[in-house]
Amino acid sequence: MVIKPKIRGFICTNAHPVGCAANVRQQIDYVKSTPHMNIGPKRVLVIGCSTGYGLASRIMAAFGSDAKTIGVCFEKEPTERKTGTAGWYNTAAFHKYAQEANLYYHTINGDAFSDEIKAETIERIKADLGQVDLVVYSLASPKRKDPVTGEVYSSTLKPIGKQYTTKTYDTDKDLVHEITLDPANDDEIEQTIKVMGGEDWERWIEQLHAAGVLADGCQTTAYTYIGKKLTWPIYGHATIGKAKEDLDRAAATLRRGYKDVHLKAWVSSLKALVTQASSAIPVMPLYISLIYKVMKEEGTHEGCIEQIYRLFTQDLYVEVPEMDDHNRLRVDGLETNDKTQAKVEALWNQVTQENFHQLADYKGYHSDFLRLFGFGIDGVDYDADVDPIVNW
Ligand code: NAD
Repeated sequence: MVIKPKIRGFICTNAHPVGCAANVRQQIDYVKSTPHMNIGPKRVLVIGCSTGYGLASRIMAAFGSDAKTIGVCFEKEPTERKTGTAGWYNTAAFHKYAQEANLYYHTINGDAFSDEIKAETIERIKADLGQVDLVVYSLASPKRKDPVTGEVYSSTLKPIGKQYTTKTYDTDKDLVHEITLDPANDDEIEQTIKVMGGEDWERWIEQLHAAGVLADGCQTTAYTYIGKKLTWPIYGHATIGKAKEDLDRAAATLRRGYKDVHLKAWVSSLKALVTQASSAIPVMPLYISLIYKVMKEEGTHEGCIEQIYRLFTQDLYVEVPEMDDHNRLRVDGLETNDKTQAKVEALWNQVTQENFHQLADYKGYHSDFLRLFGFGIDGVDYDADVDPIVNW
């Protein structure tokens, strides 16, 4: 089939297998162009391994440190008539390149929030790796089914306390306009914490520890976004921010709870980037288009793989990592520093529908968005007939 992007709202409903593979290849090539890690992870579990920051973490561990990786993700398999999800094709490509490089890999496709998938993962670790020395928790999901009660929680992206009126950008309509977001009620806040907070991360660590598969000195990290003034009303100080605060609580609990294996638990703060998760958040596409413009002009722009490279080499695998006041690792400084934020705020105040294409990195945003699904990548023939069926 000839595969062209099918965009619906903030999502693309199909993906290109050859383009996704090229995307994975480029990230691997980036890692291989950097010095190999002398001290790095060797047996790694990545929960949320198929796209965005989790995929970059898996690539960094495997190709930057020769790690054996087990990944967990939730992706749709292709059929004769419908393409698989981007994460499906990314994983297939990762497997292919890992195999060529003689690196161990195994991926479990299923609901990471369930105890069944946790048990299956543990069995696989026991059988193939014995133990793991790094657990990356990189899930982004709108829903979570509680493994004990069966209740399904939904996350919401709403401000807290009062209505918030702001500019936003509709990526599919190419339209800058104002929106008013109603504040979340207590139940919505609680449910968002249940989905995107630390509870499931803690449950993973508890079960991995109980099974004896956490190696001595094991590290674990979950990812957060902190941002600054422009994004606080809809992120940092909003429902998702409450869930992220809960990650800080969970990290502190994990640090206290597993002294027998000297577990090091971190929340790592990363920069705002176009991923499937961030495109769904109101305001973020506008903020990201503007911050891309500023950071590209400053020469400080990075993608997922560059961010994760720095996280691994400058924070996770150094003798004493630098932490912020909440014991978090920060890789987002090039975005959140005052000088860069002042520039983005100035643009934010001026931006309108009329000047958006001049003031913002409109092209960069769209190209990164399409790339998530394997489209718009140099060297890929998008008129060619390709087989959507790619197996792992
Ligand atoms: P993403 O949408 O690209 O990736 C999400 C991953 O989670 C995928 O591998 C998906 O398969 C997996 N997943 C979702 N639900 C699952 C389930 N039920 N079971 C198993 N796997 C499941 O998201 P991302 O942007 O890379 O986000 C990852 C983390 O990084 C999140 O915690 C996010 O808040 C954080 N983060 C993102 C940004 C950003 O700008 N994108 C910035 C800072 C931090």
